[in-house]
Amino acid sequence: MAEKKLNGTVIVTYRCNARCSMCNRYKAPSKPEEEISIETIKKLPKMYFTNITGGEPFIRTDIKDIVRELYKKSDRIVISTNGFFTDRIVDLCKEFPQIGIRISIEGLENTNNEIRGLENGYQRGYQTLKTLREMGMKDVGFGMTVQDKNAPDLVPLYKLSDEMGMEFATASLHNSFYFVEAKNIIKDRPMVAQNFENLVNELLASKSPKKWFRAYFNHGLINYIYGQKRLLPCDMSFDTFFIDPYGDVMPCNGTKDKEVMGNLNEQSWDELWSSPEAEAVRKKVRCCDRDCWMIGSVSPAMHKYIWVPMWWVIRHKAKFWTKKKYSMYENKIVRDFRDGKVSKEELDKCSTCDMCATVNNGLSAASMEQLKDKTGEEIVDADIAAQMNN
Ligand code: SF4
Ligand code: SF4
Repeated sequence: MAEKKLNGTVIVTYRCNARCSMCNRYKAPSKPEEEISIETIKKLPKMYFTNITGGEPFIRTDIKDIVRELYKKSDRIVISTNGFFTDRIVDLCKEFPQIGIRISIEGLENTNNEIRGLENGYQRGYQTLKTLREMGMKDVGFGMTVQDKNAPDLVPLYKLSDEMGMEFATASLHNSFYFVEAKNIIKDRPMVAQNFENLVNELLASKSPKKWFRAYFNHGLINYIYGQKRLLPCDMSFDTFFIDPYGDVMPCNGTKDKEVMGNLNEQSWDELWSSPEAEAVRKKVRCCDRDCWMIGSVSPAMHKYIWVPMWWVIRHKAKFWTKKKYSMYENKIVRDFRDGKVSKEELDKCSTCDMCATVNNGLSAASMEQLKDKTGEEIVDADIAAQMNN
């Protein structure tokens, strides 16, 4: 029987040079010497898709060795990055022109720089993308986390990516140990939903079937920001996994606290994947009520339950031919809120936002120890300065 391939996300580091307003990971970096090694990466299973992420993955100076090793076991690799280390990204792409690169851009120039807290962040990200296109890289694109501040930039940024012939991936605010955040919440849901509605209609109007399915994903984001049940089951930890910089294998990055199925530094993959701890995590996933809608958990579900998005696409394309557009009010909860049947406070309670929560950042004891004398920002800034001097 053919070996079953999985969908994996490798968090190669928790170090990050950005200062995003919706994520505090930059305050809680991992220690470089503890971060996932090539030996551990060699123990990963065969994958049909691998996402490499961070922190900022290009902070790792051995990122090329990691990618080289991962290509021995993965059919497709996409790296999520803030796009700051242009030279390193370009250099990697010269060796691996088939790789996917997603650069997070949080809006047009001013909005992006305000949210991301990186000087010249927009220009650097945009220039990196342009350079990659000029090099002939095919699988490159933008990634945007939509919130109140940048929602009006959603369609303009999509149009820009479209003009450049690039992919455009969206997300919205989530809370979890991974983002070291529990207070993220959309304040003006109708305004944000209206911008998603506009994007859905742009995507449905295109000639690309891939974009029609993206439209479904964005329809799901409207459902998510109103705190409703996921449109598709969540099967994380069954044929999908995340591994963190310490070799801990987890179902996803959306849980409040870190959920560990096993440790790949200490165990073999088969031992870990079939362990009682892994089974216990799977049971938790079955009754998880966080209802995340992030591409990492939705994309595998869209493939597995393809008839659901497919039927949605067929209905909405048919509507389009009769000149009727998608409306956010197709979602009952959006109508109920408009009609005053549900209050903002009630919707807030459906979200994962918890103003009183203590956030567990998922760091090891040694990584926590270094935060006693210095802030995460000081540690990472010194680290990058040392890398640049070498
Ligand atoms: S969202 Fe990404 S780039 Fe921004 S602080 Fe978090 S890890 Fe860094
Ligand atoms: S809904 Fe799925 S992705 Fe979100 S926390 Fe639960 S198990 Fe993880």
